[in-house]
Amino acid sequence: MTLYGKQMTINLRSVLNEMSRLEALCIEKGMRMTDQRRVIARVLSDALDHPAVDEVHKRSMDIDPRISIATVYRTLRMFEEAGILERHDFRDGRSRYEPMHDEHHDHLIDIETGTVTEFHDPELEALQKRIAERLGFDLVDHRMELYGKRTKH
Ligand SMILES: [Zn+2]
Repeated sequence: MTLYGKQMTINLRSVLNEMSRLEALCIEKGMRMTDQRRVIARVLSDALDHPAVDEVHKRSMDIDPRISIATVYRTLRMFEEAGILERHDFRDGRSRYEPMHDEHHDHLIDIETGTVTEFHDPELEALQKRIAERLGFDLVDHRMELYGKRTKH
């Protein structure tokens, strides 16, 4: 066995040894979990950014190189349809993914670097609720994306 193969096996085993947050949600939904789906669920659970499909694929292959891009596409769609994964379009032509959070947050996108900053503002949340109420609605969900250029660091 090559060193690479050995490393891969160790890595894969340690990943499959414990359940990721997203995997727990999959099981809650009654989804059948394969090893490859579990690896993809782990990659998404561990992501601190909002990775696109090719990035999810790259990170999954670091754990198990047998995972194909087609499997990643299929699995992401399945997670999304089950309501445990959120798909974003931050206007750069690529879908980006993040696991559903218990806590709601919104996104600020740096149009020069593509960096995504998450934020939560109670005033903004309350304002949106009030606007919906004024228009005769009970607010059940919203998406807020701000696009900007950084002026200070
Ligand atoms: Zn986010």
